[in-house]
Amino acid sequence: MNLFYKLAFLKNIPAMNPIVKVFTLLVMTIISLNACRNAKQPAPEATDDFNYFVDQFEDMRVLKYKLPGFESLSLQQKKYIYYLSEAALAGRDILWDQNFRYNLQIRKTIEAIIESYTGDKKAAEYKAFLVYSKRVFFANGIHHHYSSDKFKPGFTESYFASLVKGTEQEKLPLAEGQNSDQLIAFLSPIIFDEKLFARKVEQKAGADMVAESASNFYEGVTQKEVEVFYAGKIVADDPRPVSLGLNSKVVKINEKVTEEVYKSGGKYGAAINNIVLWLEKAITVTETETQKKEIELLIEYYKTGDLKKWDEYNVVWAKNTDALVDYINGFIENYEDPMGMKATWEAIVDYTDLEATKRTEIITANAQWFEDNSPIQPQYKKEKVTGVAAKVINIAMLGGDCYPVSPLGINLPNADWIRKEVGSKSVTLANITNALDVSSQGNGFLEEFAADQAEVDRIKKYGTISDALHTDLHECVGHASGKLAEGTDPNALKNYASPLEEARADLFALYYMMDKKMTELGLLPDEEAGKASYDAYLRNGLLTQIVRIKPGKEIEQAHMRCRSAISHWVYEKGKAENVVEFLKRDGKTYVKINDYNKLRNLFGDLLKEIQRVKSEGDFEAGKNLIEDFGVKVDAQLHAEILDRYAKLNLAPYTGFVNPILIPVYDSNGGITDITVEYINDYLSQMMYYGKNYSFLPVKN
Ligand SMILES: [Zn+2]
Repeated sequence: MNLFYKLAFLKNIPAMNPIVKVFTLLVMTIISLNACRNAKQPAPEATDDFNYFVDQFEDMRVLKYKLPGFESLSLQQKKYIYYLSEAALAGRDILWDQNFRYNLQIRKTIEAIIESYTGDKKAAEYKAFLVYSKRVFFANGIHHHYSSDKFKPGFTESYFASLVKGTEQEKLPLAEGQNSDQLIAFLSPIIFDEKLFARKVEQKAGADMVAESASNFYEGVTQKEVEVFYAGKIVADDPRPVSLGLNSKVVKINEKVTEEVYKSGGKYGAAINNIVLWLEKAITVTETETQKKEIELLIEYYKTGDLKKWDEYNVVWAKNTDALVDYINGFIENYEDPMGMKATWEAIVDYTDLEATKRTEIITANAQWFEDNSPIQPQYKKEKVTGVAAKVINIAMLGGDCYPVSPLGINLPNADWIRKEVGSKSVTLANITNALDVSSQGNGFLEEFAADQAEVDRIKKYGTISDALHTDLHECVGHASGKLAEGTDPNALKNYASPLEEARADLFALYYMMDKKMTELGLLPDEEAGKASYDAYLRNGLLTQIVRIKPGKEIEQAHMRCRSAISHWVYEKGKAENVVEFLKRDGKTYVKINDYNKLRNLFGDLLKEIQRVKSEGDFEAGKNLIEDFGVKVDAQLHAEILDRYAKLNLAPYTGFVNPILIPVYDSNGGITDITVEYINDYLSQMMYYGKNYSFLPVKN
């Protein structure tokens, strides 16, 4: 739910071509599968010669992201970002140790080898070692970040031994009393034995999830013992329960199950002290009392490990919605804990994207006009509609579990009672999404599936802006539009509510993409831009989104059902007039739109019908719409699309290097500016972080 739609889900859209000058839509149509706030608000410029590509190895690629508008922030804001960024990097070791208790020793061994191995660095085995190392860096440990499986090294155990022996011995992370032979003997089975620590998180039925997972939230205890331990801590009927077990490791000491709490002076204390140190500097440059209060609470929490403090902090943080610079820093998401209690450490620093925010302001200012002119029945229009202002941010630094694989949108805090009583902050990440969009240009995906060159050109020219605007309309006015008939049960649509609601918001956006109001308001450069969004929508809904579906399976995910239903409905209804057609060329299927205006009217018709279904709670009609148009996959077409997709050979997982923020000092040691440097070498960032942000001993 929360740090939702991490890039891990973006299995389909990497770039091979490092040099990209134009934009495409192809990414975002696939991106927006996992959440409504599909987080695709690229920067407004139309061309871009920034080189986003950094590295690619096996199934992973690394990009960099830009910091648009950073230089126009005030010095105080820049300093605030800088201090928070240092705090975001200071906790790096914590995540490594949480992922697996020997990760730090393995990482430091790798770093020592890369730094000082004197043997042949051109050998194929050395290259295989580097690939393994990069994958380990990418995953913050020896298990794949997404599949959870332990990596298989592409080199032999004896080669590993020769690497360690050929490395400066004083650089090796030897435990007390350990020599390099013992280090080799100790690490070799951990790295090479496929059965040992095989899975980071094991949740399969029948497994002891605690004992069989390699992640480091529990040691020497069984699942049963953990369950009993926490059952005894639940406070019955507490309306504001703390997030039990969130920030600790469960161990057994003298046969007694107990918690080691993450805090200053406790577990991970050395790293936490460094986080606190930078947070204390950040306090000196906060812009408001709320910000100051917020960071003070966070520091108190880190010093005490008190989960009540953590909630108190989150209440203040959640209310603070108008800060230009914001951040996340803490033990937050529990995806990596097989029991779903313990959180990995993560951090980001961000600042508001003022350009994109301007766009959403124009839309919300005209919310009533959109409502009044929409094609839905008058009795279901809202007399007074308020748009929802979505906040768009740019990332300045990724840390912990957000690095290198970034989320695309964030909705926090997690505690249910805070979400209910105070609300939550929901943001989309513009510069990260933009980097993905642009770098996917040239990977061949668009060229493979677009019907003709005109479509390719249109997407390249308008894809970014038309997609961003589609998202804005969907979020800011689409969901906010319409009302229920008196007496309609708001839950009447049951399991079809979600795809129907997404369809309603998508159709609202699609209907207006081809409206001249868009150019009048300055939201689109011309009408061709609207066509680009229609091309992309149908190409995705009728063809490409099924690359995510396994052969023989149907569509289940709500957003995919929504897109499939809309696309197939307008195709069927426009068939007599050939509004949209399937073309066949050299055994390949394409989608071609023949009449954009008629297509727009069909979108309007379907919007009207789905609004009626919602307003009247017409479950049967809603169900039929989704079941008839949104669920089934044509087996033959599916096989063809999967085959064409596989031939593109795209790396499924994307991560990012961070920019380097460099303070400029005056002669008195005061900071006069912060400058941004972008780097092109993934390993150098890894080595730099290893040197400068490693605060934990190899054994924790
Ligand atoms: Zn939505």
